[in-house]
Amino acid sequence: MTGNRGGDTTVVRGGRLVDPYGVREGDILIEDGMISAVGTVKAPANATELDASGDFVAAGLINSHYHSGENFNPGLYENLPLDLWFVHSHQVTRTEPPSPDVIYARTLLGAMLMLRAGTTSCVDFLYEAPGITLETLEPVVAAYRDAGIRATILMGVADRSFAESLPLNDDEAREWADEAETPSLDGILEIGRAAVDRWHDPDGMIGIGWGPSAPQRCSPELVEETMRMARERGLVWQTHVLETRTQVMTSREWHEGSSFVEVLGSRGLLGPETTLVHTVWLTDRDIELIAETSTTAVHCLASNLRLGDGIARLPAMRNAGVRVALGTDGRGCDETLDVLELARLTATVHKARGGDRADWPTAAQAFAMATRDASVCTGHGERLGRIEPGCRADLLVLDGASATFTPTNDVVRQLVFGGRPSDIKSVIVDGETVVQDGELTRIDEAEMLAAAKKHAASEAKLLADPARRQRLERIVEGVYRRAEAYESPVDAYVPS
Ligand SMILES: [Zn+2]
Repeated sequence: MTGNRGGDTTVVRGGRLVDPYGVREGDILIEDGMISAVGTVKAPANATELDASGDFVAAGLINSHYHSGENFNPGLYENLPLDLWFVHSHQVTRTEPPSPDVIYARTLLGAMLMLRAGTTSCVDFLYEAPGITLETLEPVVAAYRDAGIRATILMGVADRSFAESLPLNDDEAREWADEAETPSLDGILEIGRAAVDRWHDPDGMIGIGWGPSAPQRCSPELVEETMRMARERGLVWQTHVLETRTQVMTSREWHEGSSFVEVLGSRGLLGPETTLVHTVWLTDRDIELIAETSTTAVHCLASNLRLGDGIARLPAMRNAGVRVALGTDGRGCDETLDVLELARLTATVHKARGGDRADWPTAAQAFAMATRDASVCTGHGERLGRIEPGCRADLLVLDGASATFTPTNDVVRQLVFGGRPSDIKSVIVDGETVVQDGELTRIDEAEMLAAAKKHAASEAKLLADPARRQRLERIVEGVYRRAEAYESPVDAYVPS
């Protein structure tokens, strides 16, 4: 099978098309990056033919939540719960922005990892310390365009400092003392408007959206104003919610016993344009609110396990009718950025809770969460994650002769429980082959990896001084201990 270019008319011929709930034979006609016919297709005279006979063709995977800012951070942390993890991450302690070359190399590295593992579309919740600017956004857009991955770039913003986002007591607040100034609401909104005007392409390869960091890190004005713009301009709006027990305690202490989901609901901030990330510590009432408002939840199980957050109540969310997508989170807590691996965890780990086995997520459900159920999180409506006319042509050709599919009993189960990146023969995004036989077609990978190594080494020097980190760690440890003893109305840990 040979590659094709974007803008071509292409027929993917003779593959077995894999949907979450079935496999069918069929050709796929692609015109201008869109699937225009599925079934028995007569090729137009100018069409490029891609032979997929003997192979499986699946929709490309969608990573509904990750942070490209962490692409240089694999292996940096271990056994750090989120509050302490933050102290060690550059997001809290950095004072100088990275150079455009660093940002470009960093973004391209993540795009490579995702594309090679079959992710064709990602939602990048982009933080840039000390703050996001058009100059720091530019190389992110350029890297995604050059790699050929579809990207929804969320402006990750906060107007409260890290210290202000924690339920510190007076002594702790005094000891904390120094912290960089936070950006103004007006400044944040102005950059957002300019970024949307410059790069947002609603049905194209680059989308811009809003990522107010989390309710405890943003003023009500920031949350409401970004939502107002998102609704006016049809942008994605995503925020982190109730990832940890500390956040349960924070919300209930600050809001007279209400959860952050209830607070967002009471301010009219839940709805079909809202995506809530993590949703680990949800009460029944929280789940009801999310379901009633058609809000989407992003399940980041690999990250939650790694940081000891607890395990989200996925079966309860699904039973209530909540739409759930999957997100790897950043490389600081999920090194591989591999959505297929995440689908595997999703289809296995929830069995550890026991309960009614009819509620355990299946491979097909996890595959749907990684494809069609996630489309709405990207801002592309229902046009991603499906092999249907009218959908964007983001596809994987899976090697039908590989050991993974030998013998072939149930393709979806074998893909979710046993698939690996080496089973992917080619990756097509918007009609163009961007990975062929495991290698990116548009990027010299060796050159790119060398550049990433060089830039990551220069970045490491900019991390905060160890003395300051130790001091903050001591303070945050106290908060974490209080939260551990807090009587939460739900428990997201599996009992020992
Ligand atoms: Zn995140």
